[in-house]
Amino acid sequence: MATELPGGFADKILRIDLTNERITTEDMTPEIARTWLGGAGLGAKVLWEEVPPEINWDDPENRLIMATGPLAGTPVWGNGTLNVVTKGAMTNGATSTQANGFFGVNLKLSGYNAIILQGQSERWVYVYIKDDVVELRDASHLMGKDTWETQDTLYQELGLAGHQLSVYGIGPAGENLVRFSMIEGDYGHVASKNGAGCVMGKKKVKCVAIVRGTKGIRVHDTAGMYAAADEISHEIKTDASSSQRYLFGTLTGPMANYSFGAIPIRNYSTNIYPFPEQHYEFEPQALRDRMPHRGHQCGACGMHHCHMNVINQGPRKGEIVDEPESEGLNCAGPQIGIFNPTDIFWMNTQVDKAGVDVNEWAWTCGWLIECMEKGYITEEQVGFKVTWGDVDAIYRLLQMVARREGFGNILAEGAKRAAEYVGGPAYECAVFTGKGNTPIGHDHRGRWQILFGCTVGSVGSHEGAGPGRPVDTGLPAHWDPYNPHDLATQLGVSLGRSHFEDSLGTCIFTTSTPLDPICTALNAVTGWDYTKEEAMRFGKRIANIFRAYNVRAGLTPDMERPSPRYGSRPIDGPAAGKSIMDHWDVLHQEYYEVAGWDYKSGYPLPETLKKLGLEDIVPPLGAKKAVTSAR
Ligand code: SF4
Repeated sequence: MATELPGGFADKILRIDLTNERITTEDMTPEIARTWLGGAGLGAKVLWEEVPPEINWDDPENRLIMATGPLAGTPVWGNGTLNVVTKGAMTNGATSTQANGFFGVNLKLSGYNAIILQGQSERWVYVYIKDDVVELRDASHLMGKDTWETQDTLYQELGLAGHQLSVYGIGPAGENLVRFSMIEGDYGHVASKNGAGCVMGKKKVKCVAIVRGTKGIRVHDTAGMYAAADEISHEIKTDASSSQRYLFGTLTGPMANYSFGAIPIRNYSTNIYPFPEQHYEFEPQALRDRMPHRGHQCGACGMHHCHMNVINQGPRKGEIVDEPESEGLNCAGPQIGIFNPTDIFWMNTQVDKAGVDVNEWAWTCGWLIECMEKGYITEEQVGFKVTWGDVDAIYRLLQMVARREGFGNILAEGAKRAAEYVGGPAYECAVFTGKGNTPIGHDHRGRWQILFGCTVGSVGSHEGAGPGRPVDTGLPAHWDPYNPHDLATQLGVSLGRSHFEDSLGTCIFTTSTPLDPICTALNAVTGWDYTKEEAMRFGKRIANIFRAYNVRAGLTPDMERPSPRYGSRPIDGPAAGKSIMDHWDVLHQEYYEVAGWDYKSGYPLPETLKKLGLEDIVPPLGAKKAVTSAR
């Protein structure tokens, strides 16, 4: 191993012990850099080494790791991404979730690759970072504020504006330990999966506020880095599969997903819009043209993605809202019966401000509305009537959930636990996975690859939304998405790619190219000789650590099933009559075989661990959990 820290890495990792209000730093070593990169990889290392799998997510021993990676702060587009790893509140298992924006680059410029939050504070605090100045400050004046108000308040208080300050924290939902609360920052960027915000709330941290640092970033080959970044952006702009995303971000989602029955409409009760013209309301340019807007892109990002909009008509005229992602368009929209795009933009923003994950929110809210419609839950229980598309009632419900008021206290546990609480036929209506979380916001009965990924994935969501590029996987470009053998092979071979991307400190929308140009950029920055084979091997190592961690935490293969509604057969639309459950056991078993896991326990097989060089870090099941650094 080299003795000098490679380019792209800051010198330190910041550790904040909230119980004792003790702040320390640790050296980033060349060995840690090469073995774990940053983001998801570095987070997996800390989770594995420091958080006993048998403790609960709300134990002070749990860690909340907020990490960036070696490409943060470079000219590779989307260089401000934050990765959060923790033991999550929904599954009580591993979590890896990403927010874009500027946090990652601000953290790197302050001299840190990651922040490790541990212990639990006795008082509500926020973390203030300005280069070497790191303080736990009283947050009592921020309590009850939504995520945008919190950032506004700290802007004013600290006399800063724009990208000089990133504030990533929780809204009222996280303060009240809503299980599916999230971490939000830079007005609309969310680390939303598996209750990461609930963990932050349990630690009594309202937010982390980072002033843009002044430390600079060392790079091995500056000209090479610019050339590689240029190559990546050229690929994004010209490649058929990413050029539309370059122009419209994920606004392309609704039209594409509708064509194969993947829009969730009224809690999976249909796959057809109530009005035929609805489809065209969701045309990307029409969505963009709907109201005045301007770009709100993340660090060094040239994508025409992420916009802030001003509502220009109706009762909410003049309010600023952010452009939803595809998941937000579905979840704050058709899933809860809202079809007017302006209302969807508004509702999605309110969900972000409250600090709850829009996916979990939508499955819980949609379930409630269906149950009220069918009489399984009464108006008396909730306190008022909530019907499909009733924006005011749905907003009122959101506030009840964020504050755990009345029936909102039950809904704050998420779709699975609320459905189990109510029981009977209501249980059958809920969309969730056996591990306790809910899927990302589509109707996956028409997209089996994501249903399987959300159900079996080890990080509180899917581990990459689908197969990698054929040039990287060596697999055929054309395959049958409803064939279990094809699916098992494509998903098993591609497992880990997303963990590599999530360890770089950049946005996955900008690293969705073939792996070669990404490795070229990484090598120019660090001086390494990374290959796409090493990238995939790295990703698989991280996937197997998360997998081993979850099995040790008590998650079993039989929990890797969709709820009855999630795995049900669509009654109409393009995927009518199809069900992944007809093939589930074959698909599940073959996927395990490709991944190299034991079908009974779910744990990585000894030969898998050996092949990945993990045998010293991740001992076979039954052996004592290793506490070691790197390999
Ligand atoms: S693609 Fe979008 S989310 Fe990703 S970094 Fe660029 S603007 Fe941000």
